[in-house]
Amino acid sequence: MEEGYTIEDAEKAAKENPVTFKIPSRLDRDSLELRDFAKCIFLDKEGRGERMWVQISKISTCPCGNCQNKLYIGKCSNQPTQIEHPKLGDLVAFGPHNVIQIMKDKDAIVGPYGTQLMHEKTNNLDWS
Ligand SMILES: [Zn+2]
Repeated sequence: MEEGYTIEDAEKAAKENPVTFKIPSRLDRDSLELRDFAKCIFLDKEGRGERMWVQISKISTCPCGNCQNKLYIGKCSNQPTQIEHPKLGDLVAFGPHNVIQIMKDKDAIVGPYGTQLMHEKTNNLDWS
């Protein structure tokens, strides 16, 4: 949706690295609901990547016309530190194959610079 970044095909990455790269089941990734958060890996043109949460605000179907895949649209819920885009609040479109982690709205802690899973410490958000 925004130029300058791509979103990692997590399904492909998990297939290539089954031991180290784990993602939720396809069924779970297909069953996201409005207000759920999905974590995706955003890549810039230099190949730098950043994992950020997106909160789903619209659920549609893939525009390709050849598949029945879901198309999720939502707002980027973290401020990136490694890459330029997308920024906090930017609209992002992605599919089930891009999802590496899922979080329900009730489990989210929303802070000034972003969102994280309750009880989870991430590298770029050092909240205690
Ligand atoms: Zn499609």
